[in-house]
Amino acid sequence: MWIKGDLHIHSHCCGDGTLSVADIVERSRKYCDFLAISGHCRTPEFFRAEKQYAEVVEARKKYDIPIFNTGEVEFPIPRHVIFITTPENREFEMLQSLVPRFCRRNGVEGPEKAMEELAFLEKEWGNRIFMIFNHPNAPDVSTQDLLTIADSKLFKVLACVDRGERRAPQTWDVGGAWDQLLLNGHKISVRCGSDFHRHYEDGGHDQYPGEFVQDCLRVKENSYDEIFKAYTTGAFYCMVGNIISNPVFCFTDSGRLKLEFDLNGEMEKAEIISDGRVIEEFTSFSDHFSAEIKVPDGKYFRVRGTGKLAPRKYEEGMYEPLFLLNPIYCD
Ligand SMILES: [Zn+2]
Ligand SMILES: [Zn+2]
Repeated sequence: MWIKGDLHIHSHCCGDGTLSVADIVERSRKYCDFLAISGHCRTPEFFRAEKQYAEVVEARKKYDIPIFNTGEVEFPIPRHVIFITTPENREFEMLQSLVPRFCRRNGVEGPEKAMEELAFLEKEWGNRIFMIFNHPNAPDVSTQDLLTIADSKLFKVLACVDRGERRAPQTWDVGGAWDQLLLNGHKISVRCGSDFHRHYEDGGHDQYPGEFVQDCLRVKENSYDEIFKAYTTGAFYCMVGNIISNPVFCFTDSGRLKLEFDLNGEMEKAEIISDGRVIEEFTSFSDHFSAEIKVPDGKYFRVRGTGKLAPRKYEEGMYEPLFLLNPIYCD
């Protein structure tokens, strides 16, 4: 089955959030099958970690969906990362242990310190934790820094679209940092997140978790373990504007590459990318897209697609729906 969700959400428990955890769940339930509440993990005045955790625990009793408790951490390589672990795995302690030791706002900076933080978490939490690097374009993170931290097993996911329509070229561009990571053998996936703070109907600029961007995970059931597994193995894809459903991307028995998906809106273009370059482009679509092609050898294959511009919900102008399928690896 496919489930949708969002791992990047701020509640009123951090200085710039607006809604309680229960309100967030209530309002995003129609868009999301799971959530992670990820307040800005800073000083105790800005981030009320105990309050967030208490609200998450309450919400878990009331709503029958997985709700991860985590925080957006000030990483030694500017700027924000999220660590995800499952509830039975000292989820609260994990966050609490990071701020005093590794908060960049306390002067803990640089790739070496980043690797120390990752090594600390790996030692303490083993393979029951993974890291998402958020908005690598705010500020720009160098490819070299991303390659350095990719030596850690914890770094599994790089973000593409975060708040608003902020699309990271590091992740989106063909031949960008993501392709460099993949070319160097790092099995990193990409996701989108709402980075929800305040909804546009409440005077903000954001949409609810899952309303504008979606992570779609292939799972056996909607459980913490299955979500964790999908994110750490790349069994998911991400999109803006719900542009596709039910993608199939695999090699056939005869060694051809098969790509299929259902369209929920009008597509403009889909591209198959391998080893940092576009190897096939599609520009003609029906409700169900299906193609089988012969491809050259490659270390990995991935897909990105864009839809026709669609009107924004919350202000004048148009936005571009898009999707990214995580790679098939050939080694
Ligand atoms: Zn952030
Ligand atoms: Zn954020």
